[in-house]
Amino acid sequence: VIDHGQPDRSVITTCAYCGVGCSFRAEIKGEEVVRMVPDKNGQANHGHSCVKGRFAFGYATHQDRITTPMIREKITDAWQEVSWEEAIQFAADKLKGLQAKYGRDSIGGITSSRCTNEETYLVQKLVRAGFGNNNVDTCARVCHSPTGYGLKNTFGESSGTQNFDSVRKSDVIMVIGANPTDGHPVFGSMMKRRIREGAKLIVVDPRNIDLVKSPHVKADYHLKLRPGTNVALVSAMAHVIVTEGLTDERFVGERCDSESFEKWKNFIAKAENSPEAMAEVTGVAAETIRAAARLYATGGNGAIYYGLGVTEHSQGSTTVIGIANLAMATGNIGREGVGVNPLRGQNNVQGSCDMGSFPHEFVGYRHVSDTETRTLFEKAWNVELQAEPGLRIPNMFAAAVDGSFKGLYVQGEDIAQSDPDIQHVHHALREMECIIVQDLFLNETAQFAHVFLPGSSFLEKNGTFTNAERRISPVRKVMTPLGGKEDWQVTQDLANALGFPMNYTHPSEIMDEIAQLTPQFAGVSYEKIERMGSIQWPCNDESPEGTPTMHADEFVRGKGRFMLTQYIPTDERSSRKFPLLLTTGRILSQYNVGAQTRRTDNVVWHQEDRLEIHPHDAEQLGIADGDWVGVKSRSGETVLRALITDRVQPGVVYTTFHFPHSGANVITTDNSDWATNCPEYKVTAVHVAKVSHP
Ligand code: SF4
Repeated sequence: VIDHGQPDRSVITTCAYCGVGCSFRAEIKGEEVVRMVPDKNGQANHGHSCVKGRFAFGYATHQDRITTPMIREKITDAWQEVSWEEAIQFAADKLKGLQAKYGRDSIGGITSSRCTNEETYLVQKLVRAGFGNNNVDTCARVCHSPTGYGLKNTFGESSGTQNFDSVRKSDVIMVIGANPTDGHPVFGSMMKRRIREGAKLIVVDPRNIDLVKSPHVKADYHLKLRPGTNVALVSAMAHVIVTEGLTDERFVGERCDSESFEKWKNFIAKAENSPEAMAEVTGVAAETIRAAARLYATGGNGAIYYGLGVTEHSQGSTTVIGIANLAMATGNIGREGVGVNPLRGQNNVQGSCDMGSFPHEFVGYRHVSDTETRTLFEKAWNVELQAEPGLRIPNMFAAAVDGSFKGLYVQGEDIAQSDPDIQHVHHALREMECIIVQDLFLNETAQFAHVFLPGSSFLEKNGTFTNAERRISPVRKVMTPLGGKEDWQVTQDLANALGFPMNYTHPSEIMDEIAQLTPQFAGVSYEKIERMGSIQWPCNDESPEGTPTMHADEFVRGKGRFMLTQYIPTDERSSRKFPLLLTTGRILSQYNVGAQTRRTDNVVWHQEDRLEIHPHDAEQLGIADGDWVGVKSRSGETVLRALITDRVQPGVVYTTFHFPHSGANVITTDNSDWATNCPEYKVTAVHVAKVSHP
């Protein structure tokens, strides 16, 4: 860690990495941040932090930052540095030209979970009102879109139910498809503290994650299932709860829709959902499933935490629904210590979804086909809006390959690296005639771009992020934007150049508009955030101080709704040609595709993506620790170094995706969740063989 000297001022702001949303005091000397000190008054982190938030902020001033707008006619041309005015006009003319030639729906935009609520809101407003279509989507498409679908349809709201502090009252903690000590370290530590105090722990994961067994914590049950079988496992647990009479009849009777419950009960009680039947599918012994189900249902306050190991599957939405069913059936909803809690990967996944980034929903999760809602926005924005949902990201790529989708505005998202089946994505990007990238760095997507607009890091702007517990926290400007503009100003300039007027002078005015148009945020304002430190939505006349625990007296949709969860195996099966199943995840010191963490002074953390392989498989394949191995799937192939470990089970291999050259997404397939198109990153059948040094 480099000592940058004594600060001369400090500003409280919010971490831009994971969905915990830790509060920090940025200590500044001149225009330089010298230290990030966790804020002891931070309501999500209570003075704690992890290495990323505390030390990995140097990317903001890294030499790779692009601070001058650039344009080019063709992607084979050299970039030409131009003024902001010229770049914005160039982009607007291109987009207008495309619409004139190919039609209104030939262009779209992508918002980012890295950006603030206000920036995200403006991008979707630009698309809906300025482009005149609903072709807007968010990078949350590829992570938590199944959460939105599953929780909205069962509980009535697309969000987690608890605040982080709730875990202090949990008696049984069930972690499914999440690795909190690496992915959400500050919350992972809170969870461990509660387990050390005596809470029981059930881990559902194909790997021995840290929580399974670490020096201070040991899982009571580790359900080490095969990748792709979450639905089978959750259904088997529900079967035990129903057939052994462990449901909370009073809760279900008072709070849930009885018709849906009866239907679900009959379905789940079938022998095909029994632990014995599902043991074959999941690879988990029936008795272990039974014991875990009994513990969750009878052990006191039961809380479920899940992550991308649940959502990024062809049945991601079904698993989310299954988890919601479990919680409702056992009465584990609506008070402290219980609940269903998606651990959001990026800092503002919750916020980007809240802000109307999906092609079918306005801010606050209201469908674009709803006439009353549309009229509300039409009046506010003074335009006519479309009632048909627009294209999701994968549909945009497909339409680009078909020749009907020609232009894309991408803010803060590197689709050419982070989306699955990269060859297909690159093909689609090459087919487009105008790609506008707004980012800190000349990322992989920029290789296909015609306009590059410099983005601003979290240290260079004002706004808000919403963390995994629905907490809206302030992002405060610490230094002048290196490119001269905050991201929301760039979007506003583009809107004006396109002829759709926007005249905000500060992000607080954008939040005021959001509050005015959205019931869940009606009571949110910068003045209140300043006074309270942060606010958990819903915040309105009914809950003026916000809502730490949702669905306390009744579900947002009225009665909780049970839904059937038929297990359908993924198409991505192992075979003689591709005998191993690859799954993916993150490590503590790196973050997603590594664009930020790889650009810090803290090179001591820099590692490489390795392929974890079980000793048994390694021996069979003649692979030694550290050997280079070729990893081939039905989509593509890459080369990684092997790490022999029994953290993975035989038949399963695992890698992270923090380094672009590792090419994890070269091998992932285009399978996706049936309801939301969230990609199935977590299951790829592969062939692994030793190769010489690449
Ligand atoms: Fe930032 Fe998440 Fe670490 Fe907190 S736990 S410091 S939000 S990366």
